Amino acid sequence: MKFDIAIVGAGVLGSFAAYHALKSGKKVLLIDASTKSHGATVRNFGQIVPSGMNLTLWRNLGRRSLELYRELSSLMPDALWQQGSLYVASSEEEAGLLEEMHEINRETDYSSKLITPTQCRERVPSLSQGYCHGGLLYPQEMSAESVLLMKYLWELLDDQPNLYFKKASPVTSIEELPNGVEVRCSTGNKFMSKHTLICCGHNLNQLFPHLLQTKQMQISKLQMFRTRPIEGIKIPGNLLTGLTIRRYEAFKSCPNYKNLSAPNVDPNYEKFGVHLLFRQSVDGSIIIGDSHEYFAARDTDTLSYEIHQEINSLMIDEANRILNLPHLNIDRIWNGYYSQENSRGVFLKSATENIHLATGIGGKGMTAGPALMERVIKGIFNEIPLEECLLDEY
Ligand SMILES: Cc1cc2nc3c(=O)[nH]c(=O)nc-3n(C[C@H](O)[C@H](O)[C@H](O)COP(=O)(O)OP(=O)(O)OC[C@H]3O[C@@H](n4cnc5c(N)ncnc54)[C@H](O)[C@@H]3O)c2cc1C
Repeated sequence: MKFDIAIVGAGVLGSFAAYHALKSGKKVLLIDASTKSHGATVRNFGQIVPSGMNLTLWRNLGRRSLELYRELSSLMPDALWQQGSLYVASSEEEAGLLEEMHEINRETDYSSKLITPTQCRERVPSLSQGYCHGGLLYPQEMSAESVLLMKYLWELLDDQPNLYFKKASPVTSIEELPNGVEVRCSTGNKFMSKHTLICCGHNLNQLFPHLLQTKQMQISKLQMFRTRPIEGIKIPGNLLTGLTIRRYEAFKSCPNYKNLSAPNVDPNYEKFGVHLLFRQSVDGSIIIGDSHEYFAARDTDTLSYEIHQEINSLMIDEANRILNLPHLNIDRIWNGYYSQENSRGVFLKSATENIHLATGIGGKGMTAGPALMERVIKGIFNEIPLEECLLDEY
């Protein structure tokens, strides 16, 4: 047997699975269909925000991921940095939720700081005076330039003597045989390993589709854009806004969340799941998004590929309400897709004793993925079926 584990898919989940397996001394085969990362992992904001996650399992995984990212950040300071996350309230009601959240953070020992509208504008001078009713700052949170992060992570993995990285090799079949698991690629290559872990992102119709295409699995299509570098605008770290406070799981634990009145915006924001996030890159360009459209995993033919101008207009209008920006010169617009398991927040399953599936982490993969895969790798090598490895904590 050549490999202790074969990992199929090298997005953030598969790559961190390989990272942890190597750390525990295993011989690893990592296989991806592409020559460079191209999935959700490089199409996102790179906001590492445990503050937005539900307060039990996912925030804890986010907090552990921050530690793991910190270990890596000295090796890749231009790809991973700590400048915090600022949530800005657009109404007194939302500001009230930020106060409640701050209290919850104090009780759960997660650092945050309430700041006044003036302090918000000191941090982000372009914030509109009329928009901002107060802020909650998490100084410990991080941001990633995802394309660079994955480039460096792949290089780091490629350098490890115990890892064989097979790129440009779509896996077409995986079978448990008496002497191990056989992995076959469309290139004609065939590999044997003790365990196989499939981290196939939103590709749910190729390997074990009968297991992956459950009622609880959806594919979400997101749309976002990057501006050209804007001179004189400073947005440190992650900037999250009123519609995000209403959308992110963490805030649902605030006592007054259920009493929020409807936001004062066009109903199409709700229809397209638009909430506004900003992250500035080193060159001064700003990523702005996003929107959410949902498709059943069982019916991937309905998945649309178009960029909607209507969604762009909604995002641009809201961005201009939040920030005093010069004319937004959009450089690039793109879609990203992720799979999302709606009952537990992730799809973890052992198809056989030694073939395991991990995907469906939804919009939290950059935040919680590194720590989740640490647990998954531990579970696999302790012979725990994957669906049980987080059972106590859901
Ligand atoms: C627009 C957008 C914004 C987001 N913003 C954030 C954010 O700010 N913070 C956050 O925490 N999360 C964010 N997310 C979510 C996060 O990006 C995802 O949860 C995460 O990237 C999912 O990683 P993955 O490894 O499961 O999938 P992917 O990154 O899609 O990787 C899957 C990999 O598997 C490979 N693969 C699939 N099938 C095969 C096969 N048969 N053979 C070989 N290889 C195969 C693919 O080539 C691909 O490289 C965002 C997502 C999007 C789309």
